[in-house]
Amino acid sequence: MADYDVIVIGAGPGGYVAAIRCAQLGFKTACVDNWVNEKGQAALGGTCLNVGCIPSKALLDSSHHYHALQHEFKHHGISVKGCSIDLAKMMERKNQIVASLTGGVSMLFAKNKVTWIQGHAKLLSNSLIEVEDLHKSGDKQQLSSDHIIIATGSKPINLKLAPFDGERIVDSTAALSFNEVPKRLGVIGAGVISLELGSVWHRLGAKTVILNRGEKFLKSVDGQIAQAALKELQTQGLDIRLGAKLKGVKKHADGISLVYEDGKGETSLEVDKLLVAAGRKPNTDKLNADAVGLHINQRGFIEVDPQCRTNLQGVYAIGDCVRGPMLAHKASDEGIAVAERIAGESTEIDFTKVPWVIYTWPEIAWVGRTTEQLKDRDIKFNSGVFPFLANGRSLAMGSNKGMVKVLSDAETDHILGVHIFGPNASELIAEAVVAMEFSASAEDLARTIHAHPTLSETLHEAAMAAEGRAIHI
Ligand code: FAD
Repeated sequence: MADYDVIVIGAGPGGYVAAIRCAQLGFKTACVDNWVNEKGQAALGGTCLNVGCIPSKALLDSSHHYHALQHEFKHHGISVKGCSIDLAKMMERKNQIVASLTGGVSMLFAKNKVTWIQGHAKLLSNSLIEVEDLHKSGDKQQLSSDHIIIATGSKPINLKLAPFDGERIVDSTAALSFNEVPKRLGVIGAGVISLELGSVWHRLGAKTVILNRGEKFLKSVDGQIAQAALKELQTQGLDIRLGAKLKGVKKHADGISLVYEDGKGETSLEVDKLLVAAGRKPNTDKLNADAVGLHINQRGFIEVDPQCRTNLQGVYAIGDCVRGPMLAHKASDEGIAVAERIAGESTEIDFTKVPWVIYTWPEIAWVGRTTEQLKDRDIKFNSGVFPFLANGRSLAMGSNKGMVKVLSDAETDHILGVHIFGPNASELIAEAVVAMEFSASAEDLARTIHAHPTLSETLHEAAMAAEGRAIHI
């Protein structure tokens, strides 16, 4: 008999959720994880809880308050004198939130009787792993299991031109823990992480320049939304330079000199810190994959079928280490689906209904197809757009930038995509996801009563606009 029914490798939002669901379904489950936090302690929650989704949102909220205090409160008739930042306290708050959530996962493990094994795992076969103890180097044990779920996540890509040094040229993890606000911050890449961390430090006072290789801003976002977001972020003072290819990076006593090339030729730029956020790659190099014949593609992702099955019998892979969006909720949903599949249930993940969010302010959120994708596929559609400027609640809040866009099939009226740039877009998008999950039409949304005055009325009006009958515009 095997030691376990299921062993999960990795305790990020993919792995820990898979482990809890397996235990709920009655499987004897262990979760092996090698994360070590800043204090040198083992911690559950992977990238997301330790150095990703959660700490970044904690700092986004703190920096948003600071920015609002300086620039927005006066519009409400509130004046503040002597506003300043205690960065150490801000970081301590962030660390406490992280500690409370990662500690919460260990309590959930205990409650569900998931065995937490602190160590590095590698595959010895499709039913046997070797774990090297996190605390006693060289101390190894072998564990057998009927099923293995690999959820080893991802790590930042190190650029040859600008290798991380942990001090001045940093990845997202280090950029969540600066001990002072850099005067000048350079950011390589204009993706989700760059825009979020760029926003944090810009709001706290860093002169922030974001260099993006591509000419197009946020190329997977609906074009109209991306343009509106670019304009607004630039108005806020984020210096976003498109088509800027990094050519050289030189560190010197006073900072870092960057040279980039765009359509106008070569430009040099001086910064104090450089955040390189040029993408992430899967954590699969230390799994012993070749030796056991686990198929991994050229970019390092474990190959899986739509059910997350690898080529090895009984071995599944989920989350950032497989194809699909690198998002925590996608990883978690795959974890639940795989656990239920092992239990003999039939569950599917529909990637067209995965919501995306970029936590700038205003926020950017979307689900489903963009205008450009529908045009490329020659799908006839209706488009309804409603601006936050015409929404009572956003005016009352003093946050009225942006819009909601509903795209629906011209024949069936089924909602094909919803795109939001506006306040609390991260929360508003949930209604669109539910609507699409239930195959709703734009008319269904238009005929659903929304409370007044709420931000959600923008979605209601955009659905009405798709049928040419918005009321308040
Ligand atoms: P991970 O969270 O990376 O966890 C993998 C775990 O496996 C880690 O603990 C790792 O140490 C462990 N591990 C790896 N190899 C082994 C091994 N061989 N043996 C034992 N353990 C191993 N996503 C969102 O959806 N929303 C957000 O707002 C968001 N913000 C982000 C902000 C930042 C700054 C970053 C960096 C990421 C953000 N993400 C966000 C992405 C999100 O963090 C990832 O998509 C998510 O963590 C992936 O989950 P996972 O379980 O696949 O892997």
